[in-house]
Amino acid sequence: MKINVGDIKKQPEMSREYKLTEMLPPVTLAGDTAAFAEPVRVQVTVANAGKNFLVEGRVTAEVLLTCGRCLESYTYTVDEPFREEYKQAGESRGADQENDGQEEQVRLFTGDTVDLTETVLEAVTLALPMKRICRENCRGLCPHCGRNLNEGDCDCREEALDPRLAVLANLMKRE
Ligand SMILES: [Zn+2]
Ligand SMILES: [Zn+2]
Repeated sequence: MKINVGDIKKQPEMSREYKLTEMLPPVTLAGDTAAFAEPVRVQVTVANAGKNFLVEGRVTAEVLLTCGRCLESYTYTVDEPFREEYKQAGESRGADQENDGQEEQVRLFTGDTVDLTETVLEAVTLALPMKRICRENCRGLCPHCGRNLNEGDCDCREEALDPRLAVLANLMKRE
């Protein structure tokens, strides 16, 4: 997801708007990955702020997530603003390089091309919910037979709910 800032670079205070639609690689979530269902849409304004380039925009995407209850795949819509600073690599080295704390906030780019991929993927990752369920009332899987209870009840469900039968089942297990 690259933009050419060649013309903005030459003129301080200049800014330009870009619209991009591109398929991006899956985002990584704690030990898991989530793919995009369709190309990611980004609207962004890049401004030449002298030392840095200010990148402000909004990402809209459809992300395929796995429901934590029923394990089915579902689509989650992301519509998230983002803001990032980019800096031309190889310029004003020395004093800045020692200032580690601030350097980390700025991304580097070379030539006239700013690659927004990392920034966009980060914004998407932050926008994803911690608790991932396909819908509020998802019934999940039966702990006994593994059936997806959203598709209908299974036979073992009633047995498990009947305390008298549960006692019998326990007795039988001991024999
Ligand atoms: Zn579910
Ligand atoms: Zn069952």
